[in-house]
Amino acid sequence: MSFDEVLGHDVVRAYLARAFRHGRISHAYLLSGPEGIGKALLARQLAAALLCRQSGVDDQDAEQIDGCGDCGGCQAIESGNHGGLQILDSAEGRGIDLASLREMMRSLSLRSGDRRIVIIDPAERLQEAAANALLKILEEPAQGVVFLLCSHRPAQLLRTIVSRCQQISIGPLTREAFLEVLSRYPIDAANAEQLFAGIGGRPGAAIGLFEAMQRCGGEVPFREILQHPPRDARNLVALADVEGGQSDREAVYQTIRILADGVWAFRSDDVDGRRLAAERATMLAHVARHVERSGSPDLCLEATLMILSALDLDQLRLRMPRSLGVA
Ligand SMILES: [Zn+2]
Repeated sequence: MSFDEVLGHDVVRAYLARAFRHGRISHAYLLSGPEGIGKALLARQLAAALLCRQSGVDDQDAEQIDGCGDCGGCQAIESGNHGGLQILDSAEGRGIDLASLREMMRSLSLRSGDRRIVIIDPAERLQEAAANALLKILEEPAQGVVFLLCSHRPAQLLRTIVSRCQQISIGPLTREAFLEVLSRYPIDAANAEQLFAGIGGRPGAAIGLFEAMQRCGGEVPFREILQHPPRDARNLVALADVEGGQSDREAVYQTIRILADGVWAFRSDDVDGRRLAAERATMLAHVARHVERSGSPDLCLEATLMILSALDLDQLRLRMPRSLGVA
């Protein structure tokens, strides 16, 4: 990633630049906002600014917050080798466990004296024991360590963790910033406009949806899947990017998110069509949350198939297992 990849969110960045310039660097920030909006990239940009040796927070004149992109610190971040930046995510799909958190804190402790950054993304995937340990860490913050928590479901975090973070909500990008981000991908302008009209200023979600359409042969076959989903729910997983070696849980989660975005992006524009799309997308979001936490991927895929196929969603809600949270 190069640092100028992170566009938009100017208000947030300017606010943080001012705060940092006045030496008001909190030991923990919670960046919250919808999925696919750019929280992870923004967190990495903040980390770059905080670890940059040339510019960023120590530049008295900086209007924006950013790393210089050139110094040893920035280069190390870009190549993923900066020992002062630790990123905890849950790509393996089992949540962020206590052992990972402890190991991360141990390696950070070897660099005491320097500024160190921890990104936890998404923070709602911290397992219970890890969340409790994080709370203790935040209660007695180590000098120089800054936590950047990203969350699309902040209501699921321990309230005691949230209260120890400076909270920053991240909104959708403007159309201009959204189109600028998408212009850096092999997505033509007409498709980019269509994606903005479909799902608004969430570039990460738009790119995920676009790539899923590519995987199944384009927009027409993708819409066909939405309207006439395959009999075998497992076939839906072909929509997700599984080449990155994600766990089955993560692949199923991505699949359901893509379908929820697709249902909304390709809604029909009359009142009934919008209402049906909104209900379907909401139900799918609940199912995605269930698989994200610990639900059976197969059960959640079956539920997804039923949500896509059902004509009467009220009837369907009555038939769904309560644990899915769609009722
Ligand atoms: Zn730099």
